[in-house]
Amino acid sequence: MTDVAVVGSGPNGLAAAVLFARAGLSVEVFEAQSEPGGGTRTRQSILPDHWHDICSAVHPMAFASPFFKEFELGSRLDWVVPEVSYAHPLDHGRAALAYLDFERTVAELGQDGSRYARLISPLIKHSETVMKTALGSLLRVPAGITGPLNLGLGALWQGGPCWNAGFATAELPAMLSGVAAHSVGKLPNFVSAAAGLVLGHLAHTTGWPIPVGGSRRIAEALVADLQAHGGRVHTGQEITSLAELSPARAIFLDVSPQSLLAIAGDRLPQNYQNALRRFRYNNAACKVDFILSEPVPWQNPGLALAGSVHAVGSRADTVRAEAEVARGVHPERPYVLLSQPSQFDASRAPAGHHVLWSYCHVPAGSDRDMTEQITAQIERFAPGFRDTVLHSKVTTAAELASYNANYVGGDFGSGTVDLRQLLARPVFSAQPWKTPIPGVYLCSASTPPGLGVHGMSGMHAARLGLKEVFGLAMPTLKS
Ligand SMILES: Cc1cc2nc3c(=O)[nH]c(=O)nc-3n(C[C@H](O)[C@H](O)[C@H](O)COP(=O)(O)OP(=O)(O)OC[C@H]3O[C@@H](n4cnc5c(N)ncnc54)[C@H](O)[C@@H]3O)c2cc1C
Repeated sequence: MTDVAVVGSGPNGLAAAVLFARAGLSVEVFEAQSEPGGGTRTRQSILPDHWHDICSAVHPMAFASPFFKEFELGSRLDWVVPEVSYAHPLDHGRAALAYLDFERTVAELGQDGSRYARLISPLIKHSETVMKTALGSLLRVPAGITGPLNLGLGALWQGGPCWNAGFATAELPAMLSGVAAHSVGKLPNFVSAAAGLVLGHLAHTTGWPIPVGGSRRIAEALVADLQAHGGRVHTGQEITSLAELSPARAIFLDVSPQSLLAIAGDRLPQNYQNALRRFRYNNAACKVDFILSEPVPWQNPGLALAGSVHAVGSRADTVRAEAEVARGVHPERPYVLLSQPSQFDASRAPAGHHVLWSYCHVPAGSDRDMTEQITAQIERFAPGFRDTVLHSKVTTAAELASYNANYVGGDFGSGTVDLRQLLARPVFSAQPWKTPIPGVYLCSASTPPGLGVHGMSGMHAARLGLKEVFGLAMPTLKS
């Protein structure tokens, strides 16, 4: 009999699997796709030798997540930590740059520098408790007081009606709303502001690292550790019913609540089924990968140093784009996220070529090709960009949903990120990873802490399962 069956090999499923294998249990992972990794896969999807991240590209939590810290992910693979974590261009060649160097960021923000310092310095100082709070469950006792308090106060300001008060320049508000918009939704709102501040302060602590070779290297490191401790991964195996997994002593599902209903619905009590049906999925992403003949010709040269760029324009532009998506409209000027990894990592494209990763926010389920809108937004801040494009490949939101069952309607966060679903993800419980079926746990990004590559949903679920099913404590993860 297998001790643990894990369904889904995204970073959360693999994190849980590694913990069980390290605890000396037998582990089998079942993955629907032909290769493991979930959101952390990198493929030659356009031309040979040009490596495109299919989903995640930039990893703000790679060095800051307690799971990855314990796993020593930082030293298991090679990383690039760009000098500018993220950049936010404005029209006429202006830009806000979030340098890894906090003092330089403050200095270059000019008149708004001290305002930024007051907002971000306390989070940097108390980063450990900020991260423990952000990557835990809100229904648990916070890890500390000062960090979470400052995070809450900052989010009240930047997520509330007075969010425009007191700025002297256009750069800082644009930059703050650009990072808040990662979680997709109308702005301002408290939860996006808090998520933005968490990501934003990491820009100046661990930076926003990019794995050399692409995000698949993260999956490879997890799979290698799992296999080294006796675990096995079976690809091309979509699980449609719990019965296919018996007789495992414990089952961990790196799947959406919708898939949980399909896989285990007949064994779940009605009230839990109803809660899963009430779980809401967010709007979505349309992804476009490019092969370029040269780096993006940014008007502002500082952008060439950035690992991540938010190409949307002013705060008002971001608000408009996000409001349109919330109304079900495809923006002509969408919120675009970009990364050009080949600028830092020569292994990603042959000499003289570059790969560019981009996506924009679109309504859920969209099958619209947004290549032209994304191209126009880049061209706006990088005149001549069009002439550098050799190839492009679109993945619509609808295609993202068929690529990965966890991205329902193309929702790459596996569930709306709002106050209700911070508290009830997918159910209102201090142990939301636990399902009513003994020994069956949910461990995907549809459980706390949600969206992103951090492995923490897997770690929280595994901690619970180790204790409840096997009476074991957390094993060490050091190599
Ligand atoms: C376009 C895009 C860009 C992104 N960019 C970033 C970024 O830059 N940085 C970042 O941190 N995050 C990013 N993300 C988000 C990140 O990829 C996810 O939050 C993260 O991968 C979630 O991990 P997970 O383990 O919960 O699920 P996933 O990584 O989604 O993995 C779930 C796995 O389970 C498998 N599965 C599902 N159902 C079944 C079943 N019934 N049987 C067998 N297998 C099943 C799926 O095939 C998949 O492999 C991005 C996502 C997308 C789509």
